[in-house]
Amino acid sequence: MAEELFIWILLIIFAGVLSLSLCLFSHVKLKNAPGVRHYKIVTLLSTIFAFAYAFELASTSLKEIKFWLGIEYCVMPFIPSFILFMCFEYVGVKIKRLFFSMVLLIPLLTVFAHHTNELHHLYYLSIDLQSDTPFPIAEMEYGPLFYVHSLYLFLCLSISVIILLMQLKKSLFRFKLQILTMVAGLLIPVIANSFYLNDLSPYGIDLGPVSMSVSFILHGIALLSFQMFYVLPIAREKVFENMLEGVIVLEHNGAIVDYNNAISYVLPMLNSFSIGKHIETVLAEDRKLADLILQGEECDYECVKDGQTLYFQVRFSPVMNKDGITLGTIVTFVNITERVEMQEKLRHLASFDGLTNIYNRTYFMEKSIKKLDSIEEASLIMFDIDHFKVVNDTYGHDVGDIVLSHVANLAKNSLGPQDIIGRYGGEEFIIFLPTTNIENAFQLADTIRGRISEYSVSAEDYHIDVTSSFGIAYIEMTPGNQQAAMKQAIKKADHALYAAKKNGRNIVQTFKEDLPIV
Ligand code: GH3
Ligand code: MG
Ligand code: MG
Repeated sequence: MAEELFIWILLIIFAGVLSLSLCLFSHVKLKNAPGVRHYKIVTLLSTIFAFAYAFELASTSLKEIKFWLGIEYCVMPFIPSFILFMCFEYVGVKIKRLFFSMVLLIPLLTVFAHHTNELHHLYYLSIDLQSDTPFPIAEMEYGPLFYVHSLYLFLCLSISVIILLMQLKKSLFRFKLQILTMVAGLLIPVIANSFYLNDLSPYGIDLGPVSMSVSFILHGIALLSFQMFYVLPIAREKVFENMLEGVIVLEHNGAIVDYNNAISYVLPMLNSFSIGKHIETVLAEDRKLADLILQGEECDYECVKDGQTLYFQVRFSPVMNKDGITLGTIVTFVNITERVEMQEKLRHLASFDGLTNIYNRTYFMEKSIKKLDSIEEASLIMFDIDHFKVVNDTYGHDVGDIVLSHVANLAKNSLGPQDIIGRYGGEEFIIFLPTTNIENAFQLADTIRGRISEYSVSAEDYHIDVTSSFGIAYIEMTPGNQQAAMKQAIKKADHALYAAKKNGRNIVQTFKEDLPIV
């Protein structure tokens, strides 16, 4: 075998090994880069192509050459299609199934045409051994279908270049370099192929496998640079992906560098195409959230997912290099829904009466006293169900409970939005009426009294009629000591309530200084 041929074969084998290494490397190292799926396929196809071509060059007869050519033509026609798919994915365009099938149609026809050439001679008009080479090399006279395939190859590569260049305008600087690297990678096989087709390559040897493996190095670099931003590359798989907190990593200029699985809960719109894009572009539909992230200050975030309100605490930690220069930010979304709901539950338990679901005495006092600070005048109503003991004794405690809830509800539903009602104790209730004079308080108390006596309660087949007695008092403001003012008013309202009981029940009694002491 001529020494020269041996060197060519070695070069092709080297190209094959290189393609295979890139394929394996991408499988292990480039898991999340956009386009890597097709990169893996294309490097694998190229590996097979290169090795088959090395065997073709090493063949000693036309029959052997044709055999290896047949193997090459099982993979090579698909290489431009997968380069095209890779570029589409790289710039973030999702490939539709129909488009995918249509693009693969021509290579399938090429494979078919090549393998059935003996029948129609549309791919090669003739195929023979070259007579002027020191080693056997096939010489083909190309038929029309070969040119269809060549045109398809150039078309795929040209479209790939165009979509990459279109993306160039939109991208940030760092990603511009990556895209240009991808473009350079595409141009190499185009140039090599034009040498081959114009019979400029030595002995008509196809430099395709060599040029392709060189170009895949450039593509690999462009894909790899997406991975370079990892803060903790080794721990990434274990820690980053398994974190319960959603994490998104941003460059200092707002470009998305990485994210983990858990973030999809908060940002379902994130996918591998978002990498390299500005957070504002990806969150175009949710400006509020984009602003919140760009502001970079710890805060709470609330969102609704599947009808459930979720609460997150958003934290920011800077990513710095060795010299202390900030390169980016890690944004963490900590799900605090359970904590918030628990706090809400505890707050409710601490503030509400379990039976009547109105404020308990402590919370009523706290809220009312606080309110006194911001108003000019207020009144107070206290009321108590008449002869409630009889209800309990006649119908049982459970029915008594239902009556209590019913009365509380009636009163609550008669109030304005600013009014505050609480269960003062037993079957006694208290209402704080801000910005209300004693006359209006009387009117309201009498309305509630009327309603309680009017609507009977249905419980366990019984219809129970109850009445209530009311005492009302005007709250004399004592600036600086609202608690004392409240206590004083409660005393007066209570006094009036007892007077109402004395005077026959089911009445409203306003407090007066000359009410008889009971
Ligand atoms: P008056 O018209 O003078 O107010 O008579 P009364 O029977 O309503 O007054 P009394 O203070 O003698 O009785 C109040 C009753 O309310 C006694 C108590 O058992 C009952 N009570 C207090 N809290 C509850 C409760 O949560 N559920 C039930 N079912 N009864 C309660
Ligand atoms: Mg009572
Ligand atoms: Mg009582």
